[in-house]
Amino acid sequence: MSWINRVRNALPFTKKETTAETLWHQCPSCKEMVFIKEWEENLSVCPRCDHHGRIGPSDRFEQILDAGFILLPTPSVPEDPLKFRDSKRYPDRIKAARASTGDQDALINARGAIDDVPLVMGVQNFAFMGGSMGMGVGAAFIQGINDAIAHKCPYVIFTAAGGARMQEGILSLMQMPRSTVAIRKLHAAGLPYIVVLTDPTTGGVTASYAMLGDIQISEPNALIGFAGQRVIESTIREKLPEGFQRAEYLLDHGMLDMVVHRSELRDTLARVIGYLTPRAAA
Ligand SMILES: [Zn+2]
Repeated sequence: MSWINRVRNALPFTKKETTAETLWHQCPSCKEMVFIKEWEENLSVCPRCDHHGRIGPSDRFEQILDAGFILLPTPSVPEDPLKFRDSKRYPDRIKAARASTGDQDALINARGAIDDVPLVMGVQNFAFMGGSMGMGVGAAFIQGINDAIAHKCPYVIFTAAGGARMQEGILSLMQMPRSTVAIRKLHAAGLPYIVVLTDPTTGGVTASYAMLGDIQISEPNALIGFAGQRVIESTIREKLPEGFQRAEYLLDHGMLDMVVHRSELRDTLARVIGYLTPRAAA
């Protein structure tokens, strides 16, 4: 075979290899290769083992809300107030997270509807610095609540966070009472606050707005907790039970109202909002 034929014959093979990478997704749980189209059509849930993959705000809004929802502008907050630096400068970490996610911060709100019943919905993005709660997340949470009050509709938050944003020190911890006060304002206006916990929701977010819902829903097998399992075990010097800090365990122990498969979330939210909103029930 001449060299030119060898190159020509090799070409389709090379092409196939490059396409393969963009066509397949490896499930992080069962390690099976899943056709990306199948993965996306299945709402980023593994069709083999039912693992719920982590998804960002845009996918979540599209899965839950009717077409035509409006994204609320990300509130601007002072950036890097402590001039914090660890192995990298904090502004560089923010810049990298913005470039990789296309979002301004880790919590994005949209105003829309489910089956024509209006709501404001916030989605925390674990891909943005671990969904960590800093002033930007606190401000977005309050924006979502205020918008829900202005439009007399419920606020639904999808949580996903490693906890407080340590680069903002005490200022990030202040978002815990701040968000709690905002929820009280929503209650005073007689409007429902619904939490959907997704994998993982931990730290200061669990210790504040993620556990204060009128209805607490979680996706299956989501990790939900305050401190990590190893930290607790070494503190209390006891082995913790199997599945500790997973959604199903929390449901069995009264910390959650429902564990709902992603394919049923939209209908479940519509039903729950219907129960809690007189206008929707009418
Ligand atoms: Zn899987």
